[in-house]
Amino acid sequence: MGPIGIFGGTFDPIHYGHLRTALELLEGLSLAEVRFIPCSQQPFRDQPIATNDVRLSMAKVAVESEARFSVDARELERGGASYSVDTLTGLRAEHQDRSLCLLLGMDAFLSLPSWRRWEELIGLAHIVVAHRPGWQAPIEGVLGKLVREHSTEVPRDLSTSRSGRVFITPVTQLEISATRLRKFIREGSDPKYLVPKGVWVIIAETGCYSGERVGGVND
Ligand code: ATP
Repeated sequence: MGPIGIFGGTFDPIHYGHLRTALELLEGLSLAEVRFIPCSQQPFRDQPIATNDVRLSMAKVAVESEARFSVDARELERGGASYSVDTLTGLRAEHQDRSLCLLLGMDAFLSLPSWRRWEELIGLAHIVVAHRPGWQAPIEGVLGKLVREHSTEVPRDLSTSRSGRVFITPVTQLEISATRLRKFIREGSDPKYLVPKGVWVIIAETGCYSGERVGGVND
């Protein structure tokens, strides 16, 4: 069985940048599936604007058309701050013999040293980094060391071992950000073609972003 891809994020809202990246990684790396895991609260970041239920519904509707995508609500169910090390520890216990691939955008990868017990992640999963516009692979510091010691350019390495490799790969660059999307919506613009239709319907029906103030507090 191919590796399981783990795509975590705030998904506030999920958009085509997330979905296209996940699909290209799934196909390029022969992943068996990709699980999207919306986080509950992210340490060191503004809290999500849409409620947990709405973010979960948007993620579910977004993956409906791809059988190899699914949504895993464990971080929302756990509540409190979401730490990838806890999530991967749980997944590793459930899938002892499977390869796990933590899928990250380059911006998320560059912030890795601020994540709780981040050095343990590479022992639990492979780390796959998708390039985003304007971001470069680190060559210095602790991340440069991680890349030098664990990097591979051979996709098969991600299937033949369960964890321990870093794979950095370009993907089609869709410069969509959830923060910019919410701003658009707040200003009355239409997010059509940036998010799947079902996501746009939920945004319109719930009005979840129309009252967002600068500073990230709901009206
Ligand atoms: P925000 O603009 O609020 O930071 P975001 O759009 O970056 O939100 P997140 O939910 O924070 O979305 O991101 C989850 C993951 O998706 C991260 O690993 C991030 O690097 C990646 N990601 C976000 N946007 C894109 C994009 N346009 N293309 C590829 N990867 C992306």
